[in-house]
Amino acid sequence: MKILFFGTKSYDKTYLLPCLEEEKYAGIEVKFIEAELTPNTAALAKGYDAVCAFVNMDVGTQTIELLNECGVKLILMRCAGYNNVDLETAKKYGIRVAHVPGYSPESVAEHAMALALTANRHLHKAYIKVRENNYSLNGLLGVSFYGRTAGIVGTGRIGAAMARICQGFGMKVIAYDMYPNKSLDFVEYVELTELFERSDLISLHCPLTPETHHMINIDTIGQMKDGVILVNTSRGGLIKTDDLVRGIRENKFFAVGLDVYEEENGSVYEDLSEEIMPHSTVARLLSFPNVVVTSHQGFFTEEAMQAISETTMENALYFAKGEKGPNELL
Ligand code: NAD
Repeated sequence: MKILFFGTKSYDKTYLLPCLEEEKYAGIEVKFIEAELTPNTAALAKGYDAVCAFVNMDVGTQTIELLNECGVKLILMRCAGYNNVDLETAKKYGIRVAHVPGYSPESVAEHAMALALTANRHLHKAYIKVRENNYSLNGLLGVSFYGRTAGIVGTGRIGAAMARICQGFGMKVIAYDMYPNKSLDFVEYVELTELFERSDLISLHCPLTPETHHMINIDTIGQMKDGVILVNTSRGGLIKTDDLVRGIRENKFFAVGLDVYEEENGSVYEDLSEEIMPHSTVARLLSFPNVVVTSHQGFFTEEAMQAISETTMENALYFAKGEKGPNELL
């Protein structure tokens, strides 16, 4: 079996290469390339049985049609989310798609709380101020999370981990999910509108689907408490950015922490520090003192990278053995 890994960074290889040395993977040949998987690069997969891609790549209709022409039979997503994959087209051509669900959900939840705390206590500003010999506290006032209400949207693996972290902070935890998580006996499930109305901290952990696209918009922002803290580590498309910007300008939010945002594709995981910004979304968000943005790094811990590498290769092995693995989406 031959797999072409698209968009490989040095840290991907650090975790994948030791994994590949295991005897069970002896029959699997792997090539790493830096190019991302897009309709422009899909033809590179000619002669490969499988391709491996990540959250930021374009695995849409055109890419899958080209992969089919190349003879690719398996798409390995080395991530949990797969909203960037056209599953219908993959199914049409009999291309199997596997992903990595639930690798270290705590890693993403911990990053969500880190964003909430950083934006709330203005650590991003405090860090710069002290480095510049400025020890004044002006502009650094935060709120205590203890005793406040956390609203978790989506209580799957990551949302559940976030709910437990918030409980540990002494917060009252409420949540919205169509399928309440029975293991979270300390959580009060409410309708989405009630969650928006009652929460001091809102953290998004549901997948991006046609139903959840732009779930945070000017109407739902209007339902939120004044001075709410909003965190998104799920997918940028959950928030209508223009409406968020308007809400921030109208002082609706005490703080906002974003690990994901619309238009992140094209810049995410790239060093563009010497470039003129091609679009304005990030620039606009970064112009606000109470907004902290990171570049889709919620997953990026040693534990998660290890688990992603192992599960991706296990998903490949099922295919190599002619079996259907538990992480296949179709
Ligand atoms: P999961 O499948 O375990 O949980 C998702 C939960 O959302 C489920 O309980 C589901 O019922 C619920 N849900 C679905 N539609 C909903 C809706 N309309 N309203 C409320 N809840 C809804 O997924 P997970 O592993 O917890 O991951 C959640 C998301 O986090 C992924 O879809 C992905 O987009 C994102 N993610 C981000 C990073 C990162 O690095 N920032 C890493 C991994 C995953």
